[in-house]
Amino acid sequence: MVIAKARAVDGPDKLFRKAEIQRRDLDSHDVLIEIKYAGICHSDIHTAHGEWGGEVNYPLVPGHEIAGIVTDIGSEVTKYKVGERVGVGCMVDSCGECENCRQGEEQYCLEGNVPPTYAGVDKYGEPTQGGYSTHIVVTEDFVVSIPENISLDEAAPLLCAGITTYSPLNHWNAGPGKKVAVVGMGGLGHMAVKIAHAMGAEVTVLSQTLSKREDGLQFGANDYYATSDPATFDKLAGTFDLIINTVSAKIDMNAYLSLLTLDGTLVNVGAPPAEPLAVNVFSLIGHRRSFAGSMIGGIRETQEMLNFCAKHNIAPKIEIISADKIDEAYERVLASDVKYRFVIDVSTM
Ligand code: NAP
Ligand code: ZN
Repeated sequence: MVIAKARAVDGPDKLFRKAEIQRRDLDSHDVLIEIKYAGICHSDIHTAHGEWGGEVNYPLVPGHEIAGIVTDIGSEVTKYKVGERVGVGCMVDSCGECENCRQGEEQYCLEGNVPPTYAGVDKYGEPTQGGYSTHIVVTEDFVVSIPENISLDEAAPLLCAGITTYSPLNHWNAGPGKKVAVVGMGGLGHMAVKIAHAMGAEVTVLSQTLSKREDGLQFGANDYYATSDPATFDKLAGTFDLIINTVSAKIDMNAYLSLLTLDGTLVNVGAPPAEPLAVNVFSLIGHRRSFAGSMIGGIRETQEMLNFCAKHNIAPKIEIISADKIDEAYERVLASDVKYRFVIDVSTM
C-alpha cells in the first residue's frame, strides 16, 4: 500500500489542509501512478463546496485532471510499462459490459457503476480520492497515454477540459463550414475555442466582457462578443450551427437558443448548482432547434482527443501553482479570473 501526500477539504466552507491517503495495493490490472500535475476544474469547486446536492463524503481530495508517470504495474497489466507518461480523467472504472460501455461510452454506463475519480465509491467499497495527491492507483483500462510532444503540466487539463469540449464538438460535427459559438471562456471554454478552430470551424466567443478578446482571437476565434451588451443578441440572432455552453452559472438559455440557426444545437456542458434551467418550448420549435447536454467523453475518445491535440499542437494555457495556493486559485476561478487553467505542481504537496 502506498501512502500518498494530498490536500483535502473537510466541508463546504473549509480550507484545504495537508492530508495523507492510502492507495490500495495493486490488483492484477492496476497501475500505480506518481502524479506530477493536477488541474483545477470548476467541478472540483462545485463538489468541494457541496453545490450539486446529495451528500459529499468529506474529507475530500478533488482532482480529475491527472498527469504523471507509471511507477508500478499489476501482474497482468499489458497496456502500460513503468516509466510511461499517462493521464487519468474523471472516471476510474465502469461495468464494462453494458451496451454503452462496450461502445466506449463508459461515462454513460447503464449500470451507473462509474466511480468518479473522487467523491465516489470504487468496486472495493472504498471512497475514491482524486489527483490533488502524489499517487493514485487506477485500473489500466481507465488510464490514457500522453503523447510525447505534450508536456505533463499542459496535458493535465486535457483530461477533463479537453475531452469535455472535444467530445460534443466531435459528436455534433464541428468542422469546415460550421459556425460554432463558445459561451464562457474559462478552462473548458478556451479549450473549446482551440479545438473547434483546429477542427476547421468558424469560432465565435461569447464572454461576459471583452476583457479577454485578444486571448480569444489568439486561441483561434474569428469573433468575440460581450454578452453583457444586449446588442450582441440582436446582431447574432439565428447565426450558429452549434453552441457549446461552458458557463458554470445559470444563464438565460432562451437568449442563447435564439442565436441558433435552422437545425442548430446548443450543447450544455456547464454544470451549475442543481436548479432547473428554464427552456421555453418556443425557443426550440421555431427553427427546429435542439437543446442537448454532454458529459466528459469515453476512454477511447479521450485518447483520440490527446492524439488530436498532439497532432495540432494544441495545449491549454495554464498557470502553475503550488499546493498551498489551492484556496486562492478557487477564489480566482469563482471570480472568472483564471487564465485559463490552474495546474497544481504536485511536487509541492
Ligand atoms: P471556469 O474555468 O470557471 O469557466 C467558466 C466560465 O464561465 C468563466 O470563465 C466565465 O467566462 C463564465 N462565467 C462564470 N460565471 C458566469 C456568470 N455568472 N454568467 C455568465 N458567465 C459566467 O470553469 P470550467 O472549469 O471551465 O467549468 C465550467 C463548467 O463546466 C462548470 O460548471 C463545471 O462543473 C462544468 N463541467 C462539466 C463537465 C461535463 O462533463 N459536462 C466537465 C467539466 C466541467 P467569461 O469570463 O468568458 O464570461
Ligand atoms: Zn472537470
